[in-house]
Amino acid sequence: MTYNPFFEAWDTPFGIPPFDRIRPAHFPPAFDRAMAEHDAEIAAITGAATAPSFANTIEALERSGRLLDRVSRVFFNVNSSDTNDALEAIARDYAPKLAQHQTQIALNERLFARIAELHARRETLGLADDQLRLLERYHLRLVRSGALLGPEQKARMAAIVERLAVLHTLFGQHVLHDEREWQLVLDEADLDGLPDFARAAAAQAAAERDIAGRWVVTLARSSAEPFLTFSSRRDLRRGLWEAWTARGAHQGANDNTPLIREIVALRAEQARLLGYDNFAAYRLDDSMAKTADAVEGLLLQVWEPAKAKALAELAKLEKVARAEGLNEPIEPWDWRYYAEKVRQAEHDLDEAEIKPYFVLDNMVRAAFDTAGRLFGVTFTEYRDLPVYHPDVRVWEVRDSAGGHVGLFLHDNFARPGKRSGAWSSRYRDQETLDDAVAPIVVNNNNFSKGEPTLLSFDDALTLFHEFGHGLHGLLSRVRYRSQSGTAVRRDFVEFPSQIFEHWMSAPETLRRYACHYETGQPMPEDLLQRLLAARTFNQGFATVEYTGSALLDLDLHRQRLPQSLDVGRFENEFLDRIGMPREVGLRHRPAHFQHLFAGGGYAAGYYAYLWAEVLDADGFAAFTETGNVFDPELAARLKAIYSAGDREDPMQLYRAFRGRDPKITALLAQRGLTASQ
Ligand SMILES: [Zn+2]
Repeated sequence: MTYNPFFEAWDTPFGIPPFDRIRPAHFPPAFDRAMAEHDAEIAAITGAATAPSFANTIEALERSGRLLDRVSRVFFNVNSSDTNDALEAIARDYAPKLAQHQTQIALNERLFARIAELHARRETLGLADDQLRLLERYHLRLVRSGALLGPEQKARMAAIVERLAVLHTLFGQHVLHDEREWQLVLDEADLDGLPDFARAAAAQAAAERDIAGRWVVTLARSSAEPFLTFSSRRDLRRGLWEAWTARGAHQGANDNTPLIREIVALRAEQARLLGYDNFAAYRLDDSMAKTADAVEGLLLQVWEPAKAKALAELAKLEKVARAEGLNEPIEPWDWRYYAEKVRQAEHDLDEAEIKPYFVLDNMVRAAFDTAGRLFGVTFTEYRDLPVYHPDVRVWEVRDSAGGHVGLFLHDNFARPGKRSGAWSSRYRDQETLDDAVAPIVVNNNNFSKGEPTLLSFDDALTLFHEFGHGLHGLLSRVRYRSQSGTAVRRDFVEFPSQIFEHWMSAPETLRRYACHYETGQPMPEDLLQRLLAARTFNQGFATVEYTGSALLDLDLHRQRLPQSLDVGRFENEFLDRIGMPREVGLRHRPAHFQHLFAGGGYAAGYYAYLWAEVLDADGFAAFTETGNVFDPELAARLKAIYSAGDREDPMQLYRAFRGRDPKITALLAQRGLTASQ
């Protein structure tokens, strides 16, 4: 048989995937064998002559599908971070096959009968708390997949899940292709207004594309946003904005509009089959928020004050624009440009003045040191481990006693084969069911590479955000992999990531790590104070662009019968209805809203960031109240949340950390939305 690294034990250090030996052609046979093995394992569980027990059913399930897990993790991670035509073709081929495989298991009647029997007498089984929760979650997951449906409905459910897998895959590929195909090529005369760092990044992007002597701006957020902020060429800003917001909406091969219509209709049908009014009701039933009304209540609590703040911000932009001779209305491609001028005038703060202090490598060290001070972990780089791209760096994480905690892969730069945005994922989850298994975690960002790479303040927050997710995976201390790390409810998973952001902007961190890339000198104290004083600047805009997208997500997924959805009309009517300020623009328009459509994870779940922000703002206030943002006792209680995975109910975890229920006041204050501001 031909060599396939997936069919061998990995003798690599720490069990890192042998990326140097893995070729695209290895995936299809590996997937095929892995699914067959998994089927055989399930058949062994359901065919057992003995009565169901926790060990022979639930723990046996935890042990099953290991090869499939290993192949899938490598495939989907590399396909997101560094794809190519071969991997994309495999994704299109295997997404429906994998969905079908999982659905067959979820709808396996004999398997469900065993789990249901255990579930019915769960209180008498003598289970530990984590085992009881695991059994309940298994049962609920199968019920929510359709285990209680009749045969015809089950068949329909399976067909829907399979079709959705196809549509999700295509959706993401279309966005990637649109992003790759468009670029703004600039001559020297087109660079008006761009500060040195933006010119350097554009020159680097041109060099990467073999365009000598010119400059390139791409649709990656870290390339597009600086151009929209600084370019004094309104015509070019407009062109960039239009291309950026049209991703996925162009007619032709990459048009996502018909996909959205089909996805939304299939999800609504899925929900109705399961007895829910609409998809949002179905999705939210298994969340902290519980209901669409609760989500809407939270979103509307910030929506009106945010809109009022955005309109006040707009008035200031208009004043500056008039003074500069713009006599037309402010357009979405003008907002960042004039906002930057207002910021300079009001706070004496210039993005070009700040950016030289945010060197990527320093900010990475800041994130590592913060984790060290809070949670007692250290990071040691390994330069000779196999990686899937030369830009990926690998760190071993150790605890305070020097024991191995896990591996951390950092993949920070934008490239043509990488999905946009930033995300955290895993190659392996922590567990101790049989042997102790250490986690392997990866963080992806899309920063523009430079010499050195300089970040914006928001980029640095994103770096810390994803690292917070990474720590959630790394610090996991659970028995079962299904409860490992980030395997929590979607509206809780953003808590560990978002609270970690607060340490990036802590003065202690900035004084130490915000050092000028040329002189190495720390940021002058007066600049630091101006930077922090301007934290709520433009938060009306930021809150409106985010909350608008979150409301749109909820609205789309609350429709009962969206069969004939006209996406363009829906979007326009929706924006009218909520009174969206036209000068702001949604953070994600439907045609490239990958959170919702490149997978189902955040469908009817984009609100999760705001939901978790109630917790993170309130939670970080616990630290500032003590006067020490590294307060050891609080840090130990916070670490318990990062370690608990899904072993316990999230609200109980939060209460154990905070000593009370969360309050929304800290969130409103940090966004500058309280009445006094
Ligand atoms: Zn996140």
